[in-house]
Amino acid sequence: MVATTEEVLELHARVRECTACPLHLTRIQAVPGYGPVTARVMAVGEAPGENEDREGKPFVGAAGRLLTSLLESVGLDRRDIYITNIVKCRPPRNRDPEPVEVAACSHFLDEQIELLQPDVILLLGRHALTRLLPDAGGISRMHGERIRHSDRVFVPLYHPAAALYNGGLKETLEADMRRVRGYLNDAEAARARRASGATASELRAVAAAAGGAQMDLF
Ligand code: URA
Repeated sequence: MVATTEEVLELHARVRECTACPLHLTRIQAVPGYGPVTARVMAVGEAPGENEDREGKPFVGAAGRLLTSLLESVGLDRRDIYITNIVKCRPPRNRDPEPVEVAACSHFLDEQIELLQPDVILLLGRHALTRLLPDAGGISRMHGERIRHSDRVFVPLYHPAAALYNGGLKETLEADMRRVRGYLNDAEAARARRASGATASELRAVAAAAGGAQMDLF
């Protein structure tokens, strides 16, 4: 059952009050996540940066603008997507989150996934990939692939911030986003079939017709 907005807001309130790791000492504010409870896509980044720490929302700086345009390039509206991070407070000087910080914060992300039950979870960068799929392989091999794990669908992508410094990665991200669009179409078709009571083999046939070669990762 999909969560209510109240349940998500209650979780956000707990994130804002959290003092479980040292990052609470240097933050302006925690950044729990942003997006509708009905979102079918969740995007998971690394940690808030300076702009996010100031505004209390994820991906509001340059990397966020690139993320918005990547989503729009395949017909997705950022307002329909729930965006969050592995770590909810800004690490000083934007350093990588420490393992102890990731460990202290991780249960919030687990709860967010459990509440929203998104069709597709986009893992933005190696930190998100390592935290959620530690055995999947590196980002340079797995980016753009559809990975089913624990009854969920994950797609590792390069972090948009990396593409700001490496123009070649932007084209890779654009191509991977087109694959994400296909995965979502499959998920929607499967959902529609489920609602109309289709059998599992009929569902697989619909997904195979829409997803082609990607199906082997399912
Ligand atoms: N980078 C991230 O990983 N998360 C943000 O919220 C902003 C930049």
